Amino acid sequence: MTAAVLSGRELAAAIKSETAAEAARLSAAGTAPTLAVVVATADESSAWYVRSIARATEQVGIACDVVDLGQEATGPEIRRTLDALSADDRVHGIILQTPLPPGVDAQEMALAIRFDKDVDGANPLSLGRLAAGLSAFAPATAEAVVRILEHHGVDLAGRHVAVVGRSTVVGKPAAHLLLDRNATVTVCHSRTRDLAAVTSAADVVVAAAGRIGLITADHVAPGAVVVDVGTNPTEDGGLVGDVDAASVGEKAGALTPVPGGVGPVTTALLLAHTVQAASALRRA
Ligand code: NAP
Repeated sequence: MTAAVLSGRELAAAIKSETAAEAARLSAAGTAPTLAVVVATADESSAWYVRSIARATEQVGIACDVVDLGQEATGPEIRRTLDALSADDRVHGIILQTPLPPGVDAQEMALAIRFDKDVDGANPLSLGRLAAGLSAFAPATAEAVVRILEHHGVDLAGRHVAVVGRSTVVGKPAAHLLLDRNATVTVCHSRTRDLAAVTSAADVVVAAAGRIGLITADHVAPGAVVVDVGTNPTEDGGLVGDVDAASVGEKAGALTPVPGGVGPVTTALLLAHTVQAASALRRA
């Protein structure tokens, strides 16, 4: 592999260390930063993710309340729980874990997450504010894309960035954050004609499709920077991205690894957002 490896681990460690210092300061002043995670699924990968968030909060001195409503939870129950947490002065950040029970719409539910506690940018109003250039918490993964590029000194102003994926969790908010950094952004999706032609014309490719090996050497220009957001479980219990690292690594100039790239920065930013929310709510 000739591409530089854009690790997320050092950046994640730096964000966590700043977050721990701020959490300690707030706790000493009587506000113990607290993140509530609402779960309504028995999905094993979701349970794994919730455990990893709980461990990460503990490391930085944030309290984590997991509210498990069970996989039979109804939309009204989930909404009532989010309303109650939004009104609870002890809680500063709220995450609604997906998947939700069949027929329950995540965005409809997330409307009940109070905007200034919406630390993973799940409420559609947060995305609207982000699009309008107003302050809001961005979904942590989308922000991680921009932060990892900035950390490694990738200049975004005037560069052409192709984002592959248009979900409200990653692709769309990432596109807005990149536009804010003055990048020229093309958003691709499953109906894009000739994906390789679009992505290989870009200086930076952000792969967020959830498709193993979607981005090959044919999809990138020589020397391009590639951010792999994909986290796809493999049969042997491993994790791979959307980028065929073996071929892309021989052609691109730089590539984020999976694991160890966007993932750790995402978790660190969730923690940072929770402490920022606690600090802002304390001042309010
Ligand atoms: P999603 O909601 O399934 O969205 C996938 C997007 O990719 C859709 O917009 C889809 O297009 C597009 N797409 C699918 N196949 C495509 C193809 N062949 N060519 C072009 N576009 C294609 O997924 P998501 O929630 O955004 O997540 C994307 C990936 O990021 C997943 O692997 C997920 O596990 C990972 N992720 C990682 C983190 C992290 O912390 N590292 C956090 C969140 C998500 P349409 O809109 O046309 O269907």
